[in-house]
Amino acid sequence: MSIQSKQTLQNRRVVVTGGARGLGAAFVESLAEEGAQVVFGDVLHDEGQALAARLGGNVHFVALDLADPASIESFVQSAAQKMRGIDSLINNAAITNSGGRLADELSIDTWDAVMNVNVRGTWRMCVAALPFLRDSACASIVNIASDTAIWGAPKLLAYVASKGAVISMTRSLAREFGAHEITVNAIAPGLTEVEATAYVPAERHAYYQQGRALTRAQVAGDVTGPVLFLLSDAARFVTGQVLPVNGGFVMN
Ligand code: NAD
Repeated sequence: MSIQSKQTLQNRRVVVTGGARGLGAAFVESLAEEGAQVVFGDVLHDEGQALAARLGGNVHFVALDLADPASIESFVQSAAQKMRGIDSLINNAAITNSGGRLADELSIDTWDAVMNVNVRGTWRMCVAALPFLRDSACASIVNIASDTAIWGAPKLLAYVASKGAVISMTRSLAREFGAHEITVNAIAPGLTEVEATAYVPAERHAYYQQGRALTRAQVAGDVTGPVLFLLSDAARFVTGQVLPVNGGFVMN
């Protein structure tokens, strides 16, 4: 990262959802490298505790279930207590569940589960963190969306719809929270090689790779830099934006 963001993320108090593995764990790790304080939550307790133990010091794991509004409240309170406030929030946790099925094969239970975690969970996290963000001099939210919501990936309808809602909420919340000098932006990653996408058939990975301007596989480290940038002071006047990070598979 640049010298500027290094300075500005030092001691930054950041909350990350879904930080136990995958992209979330990459965000937690790079924030720790930048000298930030981090509280991350997840339903994967063993993995979360192991990561916090490995990174030590300023990184803490707290159990979180985004499907449960009461869990969100207690997670945010606990994070704010540990760090004596919150400057930034990365809404990263999400579930896919609907992968591989056509629209008429999806169950209502699956639809509701995806919406509850990805959409309602993101909304409740923003609301729970708001009182603390209002008290911060460098407040920012980064929502992790997906480029599937931009290009309209098939056989993924509940997930795609939920990420479209995350993009819309990002814009609306940017206008509401702007009154408190809180920036709200979204990152829309392309298909990234992490544990959660190991099930995706090789042909689908190849389809993405060939469709990119940068024709290689996308890894978690490709997404951390843009997220850190949006949290940094260098991006204080950037809000309500959606940044695709996908090697040029879709372009805004
Ligand atoms: P992942 O499944 O490894 O990460 C999601 C994390 O959220 C996991 O640690 C999971 O345990 C956690 N989580 C799930 N349900 C939860 C709940 N109810 N409460 C709290 N935590 C919960 O997948 P990932 O690929 O690392 O995805 C991270 C983010 O990036 C997600 O928002 C995903 O939609 C987005 N994304 C990923 C890709 C990709 O190709 N990997 C592409 C575009 C967008």
